[in-house]
Amino acid sequence: MSTGNYNPYHTAQKQFDSVAEKIGLEPAIREFLRQPMKEFHFTIPVKMDDGSTKIFNGYRVQHNDALGPAKGGIRFHPEETIDTVRALSLWMTWKCSLLGLPLGGGKGGVVCDPRLLSEREQERLCRGYVRNLFKNMGPGIDVPAPDVMTNAQHMLWMLDEYETITGGRYPGALTGKPVAMGGSLGRTEATGFGLIYMLREALREKGIKAEDTSAAIQGFGNVARHAALKYTELGGRVVVVSCWDNNDKKPYSFYKKDGLNIEELIAITDSFGTIDKEKAQELGIEILPGDAWIEQEVDILIPAALENQITIDNVNKISQKVKIIVEGANGPTSTEADQVLREKDIFVIPDFLANAGGVTCSYFEQVQSDSNYYWEKDEVMEKLDKKMTAAFKDVYALAEKDSLYMRDAAYIIAINRVAQAVKFRGWV
Ligand code: NAD
Repeated sequence: MSTGNYNPYHTAQKQFDSVAEKIGLEPAIREFLRQPMKEFHFTIPVKMDDGSTKIFNGYRVQHNDALGPAKGGIRFHPEETIDTVRALSLWMTWKCSLLGLPLGGGKGGVVCDPRLLSEREQERLCRGYVRNLFKNMGPGIDVPAPDVMTNAQHMLWMLDEYETITGGRYPGALTGKPVAMGGSLGRTEATGFGLIYMLREALREKGIKAEDTSAAIQGFGNVARHAALKYTELGGRVVVVSCWDNNDKKPYSFYKKDGLNIEELIAITDSFGTIDKEKAQELGIEILPGDAWIEQEVDILIPAALENQITIDNVNKISQKVKIIVEGANGPTSTEADQVLREKDIFVIPDFLANAGGVTCSYFEQVQSDSNYYWEKDEVMEKLDKKMTAAFKDVYALAEKDSLYMRDAAYIIAINRVAQAVKFRGWV
């Protein structure tokens, strides 16, 4: 979803170019890595329940697979664009590389609003997506996963279509499956919990106790909800969360000075992450405008809804109290706003490090599915914490050593690893 004139692909390329320049990447590798290797654009005809046929536009972009099969989510959104999918595929490559996973980067999307489709229509759409892509996906090629407005059921319909066409059982062809059907325990919590493992490490480095901090979170979907739960478990206080209200077509923030009860809030939130305003008020929660989350006097901001939410227009509304921003969403900060955050000396845990818990657990799911042996939840969470903490420490150490902004340090590590793989393979 590109909002306004913002083009996330240009942002992703600008970020890449600036790091490529800093590390003196050779021109051919630069040209190769600043754009996707392969793109698939297709139309998906879907028989609607009323007997009509509707045509949807689908995309799959495989940015780079030097380190391993492409990996990345499929998003369903009415304003999905190819440039958003391209940008996200680049970020997936850097994310997998940064976490030390043997995977490349990919992303997919369908221009549609699943909230307006019946369950059967969604199933036909998922199956149609795979009919277009099956020759170019699979455990050794490209492994999709859920993302914005897609879920475990969507993945299972897609897997079933893939297995029906290819005539075998390949549970490692897609991740984010229901647990009873080869999904990994812990996948639902992984991204949100991962954010907080990173935050925990950052607080430790800065000598701040979690129980002395408060946070404002944008979004209350899968990522935000689990981040909120884990953060309060560490003792932190979430004073604001926000969400998009599809009836009013605008966002709202939900505020409680002494801290929101996250479990209580989850109980009045639908599966798309929309909180019931009336029920919230009954619980004594104040409803504020959608952008109120950014101007709270808190220690920590966690944008975990959409891209391009911290921009040059609102970055100066961020309170001087804010010390750490944990980017839960992909690309939540525009390049210009990022420059302001650097100048303000706010410690930013960049998106492709902070929200890598999801893909790391997806990788664990693929490993379990491919070996047909499944781990206990504690084992998954322990491995996740270990991998994420190690990645944080790598980035933090480089940032400290060379006095770098965390985003730059993360990019340097990630891009260097992919460039090296490209060279090892003799591609460039
Ligand atoms: P989701 O669809 O479950 O939730 C999105 C939330 O954002 C909902 O609460 C929605 O109401 C809210 N929202 C939408 N527009 C908003 C607006 N303008 N203002 C305030 N709130 C708004 O999505 P998710 O899975 O939680 O993903 C959130 C972000 O994290 C996305 O950028 C996604 O790409 C990224 N991400 C997700 C995962 C994952 O495992 N789910 C992994 C990595 C990155």
